[in-house]
Amino acid sequence: MPLPRITHKRQLVQGLLIVTALLMPFVTITGNPFLRMDIARMTLFLAGIPLRIDQFYLVLLVVLLGVVTFLLLTAVLGRVWCGWLCPQTVLNDLMDVVTRGFKSKLPVSVVRLLEHLSALIIAKLVAFNMFCWFMPPGQVVPDLLHFSEHRFMVVTFLLMTLFGYLNLMLIKRSFCRGYCPYGRFQTALMDVGTLNLSFLEETRERCVRCNACVRSCPMGIDIRNGFQVECICCGRCIDACRAVMEKKPDGLGLIGYRFGMVRGTRFRLGNITAILLFAMLLLITGLIWGVLTRTQSAFAVQRVATADQRRLPDGSFAQPWRAIIGNRSQATQMYSLRITGDSAGGVELLGQVHDIEVAANQHREVIFMIHIAKKAHPPGKLQLQLLLGDRPQATVAISP
Ligand code: SF4
Ligand code: SF4
Repeated sequence: MPLPRITHKRQLVQGLLIVTALLMPFVTITGNPFLRMDIARMTLFLAGIPLRIDQFYLVLLVVLLGVVTFLLLTAVLGRVWCGWLCPQTVLNDLMDVVTRGFKSKLPVSVVRLLEHLSALIIAKLVAFNMFCWFMPPGQVVPDLLHFSEHRFMVVTFLLMTLFGYLNLMLIKRSFCRGYCPYGRFQTALMDVGTLNLSFLEETRERCVRCNACVRSCPMGIDIRNGFQVECICCGRCIDACRAVMEKKPDGLGLIGYRFGMVRGTRFRLGNITAILLFAMLLLITGLIWGVLTRTQSAFAVQRVATADQRRLPDGSFAQPWRAIIGNRSQATQMYSLRITGDSAGGVELLGQVHDIEVAANQHREVIFMIHIAKKAHPPGKLQLQLLLGDRPQATVAISP
C-alpha cells in the first residue's frame, strides 16, 4: 500500500497560507480591519481592536509577542518553518507548481517566456498584497493609478514587483542556502524536543543507494550524511524514499521526521521551549490586560506658542491654548473641557470647550482661551480636565 506523501500535506498548508494572506486584509470585524497596520491612521488593528501607535506599550507588546511566537515555533518545529511556511519557500514552491503544468508540454523558449510571465504575475500579486496589510485594500489600485498624487507608493510598488520578480527568477532557493541567517540562528534554539528531519540511522543498512532522495532535494544535499544546516526540512526526500521503499518487502521509508536528535518520536518539552512558552503566556496576559484597561481617551494640552498672554482693557488676562483630544472608542464621542484646582476661582475657559465631537479612533485639535479675572491674576496651579458627559477622562496640570 502506498505510504502517505508529505508533499500533499505541505502543499495543503502552503495553499491555506496563500489564501489566508490574500484574503485576511479584506476581513473586517465590527467595521474595523481584523488585522492591519494602518499607516495613514497610525493604528494597528488586532482582531478588530484599534491600537494607536501612541499607545506604544501595547504596540510593543504585540511586536514582542510576534517575536516570541516565532522563536517558540522555531524551538518546536525547527526548520520546518523554512520548508513549509517561510514566504520565500512558499513562493518558490508556488512557482514550481505553476510552471510544472507547462514544462513538459511546450517548447523550451515558450516555457521560458511563461516562467517570466508567471514570476511577474506572482511578484505583482505579492506587492499588491503587501500594500493591503498597510492600507484599505479597496484604496490600493485607485491610488496606484494616480502616479502624480502617489509617486512614492507607485515607485515602491514597482520596486517591490521588480525585486519579487528577480527573486523568483534569479535568486530562488540560493537565498535559503547562502544568505538567510535563520538556519544558523535556528541551531541556537535547538531543544531536546525540536522537530527534525533525518536519515534513520537504525535502518541505514536497508538503503539501496538509489539516490532518489538526493535528486528530489531542492537544496542539493544528501540527507544520508547527517544534519546539515542547508536542509529546510521540506520532506521531499521522505516522499522520494517512500516511493522507492514501498516496493520492498517491509515498505518503510528510511527518512523521517522525529522530535529531538535521539530515537523516539514523542514530543518532549525542553527548557528553551518551556521558557518561550512561559514568556508567550505572560505577553498574552499583559496584552489582554492592557487592551481591557486602556483609556478610551487621549488628552494633551499646550500653550499656543505664537501668542503671548494679553492684558485686556478691563485688566483681566487671556491666553490661547491648544488641546488635542483622542477618541479611542468605536463610536463618535462628545467631549468637554473644564478648569479645576484650588486657584480656579476667577478663571474660565472661552471658545469651543463644550460639545467637542470626535469621531471614533480619531484625534481633534481645539483652540480655546483661558481667561483670568484681574483679581485672580496670577493664578496658582490649575488643572484642565477632559470630560465625557460628566465623567472625567483625563486631567492635565497647567500653569497659565
Ligand atoms: S534533505 Fe530532504 S528535507 Fe532537507 S531540503 Fe533536501 S529534500 Fe528537503
Ligand atoms: S531514497 Fe532512500 S533508499 Fe534511495 S538513496 Fe535515499 S535513503 Fe537510500
